[in-house]
Amino acid sequence: MVSSSYVFAFLLARYVPHLNRPAASWCLNEEFRLRFPDIYFRNEKVSISLIKDTLVWRESKEGVVTCKHAYFGSLSTHPDVTWWKFFWMSFVAPSISTLLWLLWYNHLPTEDNLCKAGFSLTSWCGLCGNFMETTSHLFIFCDYASTLWKVVCRAFNCNVLTANLMDFLCQAFELSFSPHLGLLWLASIQAIVWTIWNSRNGLIFYNWGANIHKSLVFIWHSVREANSLSNGVMENKVDDLLTLKAFGLVGCPPKAHCIIPVIWSPPLPLPRWFKVNTDGASLGAPSDGGCGGVFMTCWPFLKGCFSILLKHVFAFEAELWAVIHDIEYAWKFNWHHLLLE
Ligand SMILES: [Zn+2]
Repeated sequence: MVSSSYVFAFLLARYVPHLNRPAASWCLNEEFRLRFPDIYFRNEKVSISLIKDTLVWRESKEGVVTCKHAYFGSLSTHPDVTWWKFFWMSFVAPSISTLLWLLWYNHLPTEDNLCKAGFSLTSWCGLCGNFMETTSHLFIFCDYASTLWKVVCRAFNCNVLTANLMDFLCQAFELSFSPHLGLLWLASIQAIVWTIWNSRNGLIFYNWGANIHKSLVFIWHSVREANSLSNGVMENKVDDLLTLKAFGLVGCPPKAHCIIPVIWSPPLPLPRWFKVNTDGASLGAPSDGGCGGVFMTCWPFLKGCFSILLKHVFAFEAELWAVIHDIEYAWKFNWHHLLLE
């Protein structure tokens, strides 16, 4: 239960009085003008409303307080963090997301953290056997980990270079991909962290040998699963296609806004007739442009084609140049029965 005095004090604190002066200008004395001339003259330019002062509830658009506004206003505010969207996803198992969350806060019981907590042990990275086990070494710099990152980064055609774990994760989260590829990238990060941690634990507690091939299979499987559970679509980019191909995925292309059938139909079924499909375009008005044409017979058989760069032309000029060149080439090769399209 909350006492009524508390509620009253709370509501009062949330009200912001609008202080409106009855006059249309400020009344500041001479001493103030001499001591703070800048503020004085700046204030003179500020017009003052003559509307009566009112109390406004700042959490509502209308300025009116309701029970709903009071309830939500009384709830404690949470820190505004952005990392949650990198960890919690519907298509990643919560146990995997939790592991990455613990890693983000450096709360995983790696041997360096255990030493900081007061445990006395000889730290040794079980995966490579060359260095002491720190969080950064285990998840980034260990040969085992760096091989996994390299293979996955190659699949995503990206690179992450840094000196410590936090920078590494920040860089990895900030890499720019299309929305669909971005989700797969996050899923692969989580899978890498998960498989490194499990390989390390299996080695320490069960004496299982760390197998990099198995780890890669797990990562690839996780990315495929994320692809099937997410409802994103790929962008029409070669990079997206190559990444999806690297993971053996079939991309889901976006729906076309408008589908226009383009069907080539032959000219009249007479051997003497030719058809030329032609076009011209310009980047600006005027700007660099170009024109081209493709000559086909009625069977159809390609007889020839051309493309020409044009300088400083409008679009209609490029179209006209295309037609002129069509006729010139047709005349040159004695194709006197020409259908222009
Ligand atoms: Zn190592």
